[in-house]
Amino acid sequence: MPCSAASPELRWTRETERRGPGGADRALRIVLLGPPGAGKGTQAVRLAARFGVPHIATGDIFRSNVDQGTPLGRVAKRYLDSGELVPDDIVIDIVSERLADPDCRHGFVLDGFPRSAPQASALSRRLDELGTPLDAAISLEVQEEELFQRLAARARADDTEQTIRNRLRVFAASNHPLLRYYEQRGLLARIDGVGDPDDLTELVVARLKDLMAHPITERRRSAEVALASMVGR
Ligand code: AMP
Repeated sequence: MPCSAASPELRWTRETERRGPGGADRALRIVLLGPPGAGKGTQAVRLAARFGVPHIATGDIFRSNVDQGTPLGRVAKRYLDSGELVPDDIVIDIVSERLADPDCRHGFVLDGFPRSAPQASALSRRLDELGTPLDAAISLEVQEEELFQRLAARARADDTEQTIRNRLRVFAASNHPLLRYYEQRGLLARIDGVGDPDDLTELVVARLKDLMAHPITERRRSAEVALASMVGR
């Protein structure tokens, strides 16, 4: 379907890129998926700045609470130290609250959330409540050994070798259901995360434009047809 036939609220307009917070009412609501070390943080910061929407990184929220010694930080610390996931109900509450903040009115880039199927469905429910559905889930994909090298080089406090291996293991176990969840809903774009960060940003923007040029009903239908043909094979 040509771009011009899409409903106005689904059309990618110049204003989508020009609008600062409080500008047009078209928004960009995306989640970035991908393993630790895939460059989600870098891309999330750039996309958020480019589209004038907040960057919400659950890992940053937890780390800042740990640093400040808040009650949440005290609970989260042992999960961060071991590379395990903080329990779903805690993360879901934090994100649900954050999404109601006024700066999220025109969208957001979620980085590090969702990380499990229950988190993904809680996010969908919350966005339905707010009347602001997700536009896309971008999955940045990088091979495990490359990730290990990147993570070992960056040496954050929670980046010991054992923690890194555990975080990659935890990721591998939880990622597949998430990809399926978003694929079924016609929201998924899988992107090779290796290469120059500037090129990667342009690639992500191009894929977003591509996705958003098609109404979600059409995207969902194509995803259903593709999945059905795989099952029938
Ligand atoms: P990150 O900076 O995204 O790699 O997250 C660092 C750590 O924060 C993870 O290893 C988890 O312990 C915790 N964390 C961040 N986001 C989530 C989430 N969505 N669900 C559960 N735990 C999370």
